Amino acid sequence: MSTFWSSRKLPFAWVLLGVTNFLLLGASSLTASGLSVLVLVAEEGDHRVPASHEAVAFWNDRLAELGIDTRLEEPRLAVASPALRLLENYARQVVQRATRLPAGQAEPAPPADLSDLDADIVVLLSRQDIMSFTWPMPRITPRRYFLVVRSVRGPYRDDAMVTRHVIAHELGHALGLGHNLETHTLMCGPCQPLTAEPDDTGFLPLTDGDRVRLVEMNSLR
Ligand SMILES: [Zn+2]
Repeated sequence: MSTFWSSRKLPFAWVLLGVTNFLLLGASSLTASGLSVLVLVAEEGDHRVPASHEAVAFWNDRLAELGIDTRLEEPRLAVASPALRLLENYARQVVQRATRLPAGQAEPAPPADLSDLDADIVVLLSRQDIMSFTWPMPRITPRRYFLVVRSVRGPYRDDAMVTRHVIAHELGHALGLGHNLETHTLMCGPCQPLTAEPDDTGFLPLTDGDRVRLVEMNSLR
């Protein structure tokens, strides 16, 4: 676990996005008992595909433990979709906007190629070395999310543990969680990954606050 986020600048960017997400996320985040997940990827053999399944299984176990009915459905895979290029462009635009301005009324609608996809959570396993993020699609009700997982280049490319945590962290946002200040937890922001260790779930731990928030949101349904 010495290379968790693989990039020193990444946690900072996450903080910005996390704050934005936290402000935007409402109690309506958990509105369906089964949230559909569509994973878009350029190549079927991408190591982030099994990591996505593991992260979904992790969250379903946690939700079950908390007595929450909501589940993430088994991810459907779309390989080499014609929409990939456009979604990659949109992902880059979101990152550029998010590091300058908070989202809000000025946020443009997502491209139809994204909003037309039939899923509550659209996961793009990006080919870009940009930051990972989760973005509530503007002007779409009930809320849906665009979740982008960066392509890690360089010496950490094959660090499957990093990918599992990144995807689980982003799915946590889609489930309504913001960041916490405990730097060794799954929903950390900022994170201090060099000494972070997974617990017996195989993932970084949730905090008591995370659990309370998940239960509270569910009770408001
Ligand atoms: Zn985050």
